Amino acid sequence: MTFASLNLSEAIVSAVSDMGYTQPTPIQTQAIPLILQGKDLLAGAQTGTGKTAAFALPLLEMLSRQPQDERGKRPVRALILTPTRELAAQIEENIRAYAKNLPLRATVIFGGVGMAAQIAQLNRGVDILVATPGRLLDLQSQSHADLSQVEFLVLDEADRMLDMGFIHDVRKVLALLPRQKQSLLFSATFSDDIKQLANTLLNQPEQVQV
Ligand code: AMP
Repeated sequence: MTFASLNLSEAIVSAVSDMGYTQPTPIQTQAIPLILQGKDLLAGAQTGTGKTAAFALPLLEMLSRQPQDERGKRPVRALILTPTRELAAQIEENIRAYAKNLPLRATVIFGGVGMAAQIAQLNRGVDILVATPGRLLDLQSQSHADLSQVEFLVLDEADRMLDMGFIHDVRKVLALLPRQKQSLLFSATFSDDIKQLANTLLNQPEQVQV
């Protein structure tokens, strides 16, 4: 199995190859084709399995197939919610590397640091936003984050997000998004709370487990 055989464009395959990835991991082999088909996804995967690339590569592929009008203001097209600032920063760093040959802009926002730099980034326009829920709600309520055009949503480490008490914030964010979108939920464990969240968010999801 190769990344090219997963129907990812040369721009993405070469970026991944530059990172030293020689072949897709099991979660990537399973999830990437389903995501490219436009399916919602419930994925059971721990950190270390390559789950970030499993959702990021097909999102980049789909976003780049339908480029944003360069002239207009760029609303967020893909939103990735994640529980901690460390994880958010790491995901954004990976996405930047995967997207280095693509005309797509990614940024990250999280709490505990000043807002000014994050606001400046958002105002420049961003295709892919990686965020922790609380800071996202703060910036959205101040009209700095336009979530009305989100096409793709990823809830990463959903179980940790709930364990950390973010369920209300997550639900508030979900209420700000268009109904029509593709949603992916990644979690290491599946409690009743996670299943309930999956039920309200996902539309006829495919399931993968590694
Ligand atoms: P993650 O589970 O997304 O946190 O990824 C764990 C680590 O595996 C990260 O350092 C990735 O850069 C790396 N990685 C992801 N996919 C691959 C792959 N196909 N081959 C080699 N390393 C990978």
